[in-house]
Amino acid sequence: MYRTRRYRYANERVVLFITLFIALSVIVLTSTVTFCLSGVFILAMIVLSAGLIRSHHQYLIRNGIPVNTSQMPDLTSLVGICQQKLQPGDIDVYLTQKNQMNAYAFGLGKPKVLVLYTPLLKFMNTSELTFIIGHEMGHVALGHTWLNTLVGGMAGIPAPFGAAIILYAVFRWWNRMCEYSADRAGLLACGDLDQAVTALVRLVAPDIRSQQDFNRVMMLLNTKDDRASNRVAEVFQSHPMLIRRINKLRDYASTREYQTLQVKVNQNVRGALPQLVDKFDYDQSVATGDPPGKEPELPPEERWPWLKPLEPPTVQSQKK
Ligand SMILES: [Zn+2]
Repeated sequence: MYRTRRYRYANERVVLFITLFIALSVIVLTSTVTFCLSGVFILAMIVLSAGLIRSHHQYLIRNGIPVNTSQMPDLTSLVGICQQKLQPGDIDVYLTQKNQMNAYAFGLGKPKVLVLYTPLLKFMNTSELTFIIGHEMGHVALGHTWLNTLVGGMAGIPAPFGAAIILYAVFRWWNRMCEYSADRAGLLACGDLDQAVTALVRLVAPDIRSQQDFNRVMMLLNTKDDRASNRVAEVFQSHPMLIRRINKLRDYASTREYQTLQVKVNQNVRGALPQLVDKFDYDQSVATGDPPGKEPELPPEERWPWLKPLEPPTVQSQKK
């Protein structure tokens, strides 16, 4: 059998090699440009964040209530204890009047800034508040405040639709891991698992007044965890579901590692613990506008409507 390929046109091979060379060059060049542009984008995001962080700090200096020995001695002692235990470095602490149970920390350079919302002082006891302050200091100590700017900048890189979702989801995944770490720092600062758990629960149900209230909220939180839609939604959220945080914290508290760390960080606190009051020297009725102690006794689901189980879906009328 005669088998030949000699009829191949002379230029076919040459043009094939040129085509492959040009195609590879374009691929290398465009990915280099994309890579460099990504670097520029991340750098621009960091510069932008630094500007926003600076102006937010200035805003707090002008409008926040600084937590210091002359303004708020009791709270300052509490902050001091957390700092001795967790050694997060320089931190400026401010109170801000907002009707929310919240706290946050931010900062790229020094000092980092920690902000506490005033209702925390209204509803939380000293140990619960120590957990919250410790949680935020944990974010600072573990570098989450500056990493958030860097990783957030990378996750924000413009990408084709599918890739943008993956970047966002993976960034949020890391955010949720940071929350577990910060909760551990909060526990180390407060040193009491039950108080740490109540502090977490008070974030969604500030005015729990009895064990029955507490049990009811825990039941509602457990129900939320069971819903598949909530599990899917969690993928894009910065914080894990509360019940998961509580369970993770309980697991951690039972480890030998935690016991060892707790003993060691407690030894950091110099001298005797200052006598802390249960109520802080602060006009707490300002926080919510309500006169203290005059809230009506409502059932838990009415006081915390966001915990209410969803109504069963109603039958929709058919589209015409
Ligand atoms: Zn946090």
